[in-house]
Order: sequence, then structure tokens, then C-alpha cells
Amino acid sequence: MTEKALVEERFRDIEENYKRIRENICEAALRSGRDEKSVRLMGVTKTVDSLYINHALSLGIDLIGENRVQEYLGKRDELHLDGVEKHLIGHLQTNKVRQIVGEVDMIDSVDSVKVAKEIGKESAKRGLVTDVLVEINIGGEESKFGLDPSKLTETVCEMAEISSIHIKGLMAIPPICDSSTEIRKFFMNMNRMFLDIKAKKLDNVSMDVLSMGMSGDYVEAILEGSTMVRVGSSLFGKRVY
Ligand SMILES: *Cc1c(COP(=O)(O)O)cnc(C)c1O
Repeated sequence: MTEKALVEERFRDIEENYKRIRENICEAALRSGRDEKSVRLMGVTKTVDSLYINHALSLGIDLIGENRVQEYLGKRDELHLDGVEKHLIGHLQTNKVRQIVGEVDMIDSVDSVKVAKEIGKESAKRGLVTDVLVEINIGGEESKFGLDPSKLTETVCEMAEISSIHIKGLMAIPPICDSSTEIRKFFMNMNRMFLDIKAKKLDNVSMDVLSMGMSGDYVEAILEGSTMVRVGSSLFGKRVY
């Protein structure tokens, strides 16, 4: 196939994927007794060429997530980002905070008071308040980033004192599970923590966003209350690193 034919084929794949994902989201939202508008779809764009990201944006994706500060800053000038919300979803090191504050609409991977304070400090310098999600290591896995669930309340209370950030919710990546019953338990626990914190009505904490569910498990996540699903490979195709 010619290069052009390959591009067109991938465009069509993205269109079909997008349509199918929207249908699945709608159906899962209805099954969980909610309006489909209560679940946002984030297109996860790591490793994806700007050409294909722009195609997805043209279809109506209005929220993207990038993992790496450098990758995002390197390709964003090529993206058609008018009216599109941008989130950082990958682990953020303290020394990278300076580069990303003010460049995205939300940082979804805040997993320590230390990084939250740094975001607060850099936001204050720029006269901004940065929206953040707190990342939870829901399966307690060594290999994953995120707060220990048992420290959640205490840590959120401490982060809430930082005036130049605003805590909008929680984010998690559960462990790989063999069954949908098993994964739903992790999502259910997340939802419980989300609702517990929300009920505390802490100052500077709004708990509007529960970001959970990826390509393989977004339906289960929605059934357990997710308000934001982060879909990469199911939308754009397999990632090539
Ligand atoms: C890569 C990534 C995703 C998307 O993963 P897929 O399985 O390709 O949908 C979602 N969330 C985070 C934090 C990621 O790094």
C-alpha cells in the first residue's frame, strides 16, 4: 500500500474505534443508571503521531492525556487544540513540574505531598491555581505509582492546605486482573474512597472527577462509577514505542 493509503486506512480505523467506544460508553453509563454525559472520554495520545491525534480531535474528542512532559511539549504545536482540554497523566517528577505548570489544564497523577507542594509553588509564581487529581495505587503494587489507599484521607487533607492547587478528584490504574468480577472490586473500592472523601466536604477539594478505566476495562470502570475513562490503544491502535 502507498503511504497515503496507509494513512487513510488508519484514519478509518480511528473513526470506527471512536464510534464503537462512544457506543460502549453510552451503554455502560445507561446500565449504571447514569447519563452518558456523566462519563468523559479521554484520548490517550502517548506515542501517537500528531496526524492521528488531530484526526481524533476532528471527530469530536475534546480531552487528551499525555504521559510525558517532554513528549507533550514537543508535539503540542502541531495539534489542533482549540477547545480541547489537556491533561498530564504520567508520573511527574518534582524537577519537571516547572515545565508543565500552566501548560496543561489538569495534572492527574499527583501522588505525593512533595509534588503537590511543588505544583503549588510553581502555580503561585505564575498567578495560577492548578487543578489536580490524586493518584491512588489501588492494588498496592510495588511497580506502580500512586498513594497507598490507607493514607488517602490524611494526604488529601494535607494537600488541601496548598492554596495554588485545587483537588478535583482521584485517578487510578488497577492491577491486571483475570476476570471482570475481580477488576470491578478494585473500581468499587475506588468509588467508595471517592465518595467518602467527597462526603467530608473538605475546603479546596471538590471530588468531581473519578478517572479510571483504560482500553481493556473502561466498561467495568463505568459500571463502578468512573466519570472519566482514559483510552489509548483501543482508539489509536497498538502503540509502537
Ligand atoms: C497509556 C495509559 C492509558 C491508556 O492505556 P490503553 O490501555 O492503551 O488504553 C491510560 N492511563 C494512563 C495513565 C496511561 O499511561
